[in-house]
Amino acid sequence: MPVPHHAPAAPAPTLHAAIGTLRARGVRLSAPRRRLLECLYAPGPPRTAEQLAGAGAGDVATVYRNLGALEAAGVVRHSHRAGGAACWAPAAAVRAAAECEWCGRREPLDPAVVARLRAVALHTLGFEVHLDHLPLPGLCAECAGRRTNDPWEASRVAA
Ligand SMILES: [Zn+2]
Ligand SMILES: [Zn+2]
Repeated sequence: MPVPHHAPAAPAPTLHAAIGTLRARGVRLSAPRRRLLECLYAPGPPRTAEQLAGAGAGDVATVYRNLGALEAAGVVRHSHRAGGAACWAPAAAVRAAAECEWCGRREPLDPAVVARLRAVALHTLGFEVHLDHLPLPGLCAECAGRRTNDPWEASRVAA
C-alpha cells in the first residue's frame, strides 16, 4: 500500500546514488528491490505498481511491499493524478503540480512558488501541504477564461 509522506525525502538523482543512499540507511538491497529500482529509474512517467510489475519488477504483491520499503527510506515517492491510482517515481523526479479539473492538464509548479504556498498554509492554518502527493486542483488559465457561472452553459462549453 502507498505510505503517507512521513519519511523525509532522500532524493537521489541517479540509480547509483539511490543505491548508495539505501546502503547508507541500512536498507537491504535484495535482487527484486534492485530490479524495482532499475524499473523506477528507467526513463518515463511515474508508473503504477501494476506497470512496474509488468516491467519485470516482480509480482504485484512483492512490488507493493518493496515500494513500501523504498518509500519509507525516502528514495521513491508516489503521487496521484486527481482521483487516480498511485504512481511511483524516484523522489528526485516527483514535482509539485497543479491539475485542471476541467481539461485535466497537469502543470508542474515552480518550486519557489510552492515554497510560498506552503509557508502561507503553515503560518496561517498550521497545515503542511503536500502538492507533490496530490495535485493542486483548480482551473488552468485557458479553462478559467472560458468559465461561466451557468452550469448548463458550462457543460455545453466542455462538450
Ligand atoms: Zn497517496
Ligand atoms: Zn484546463
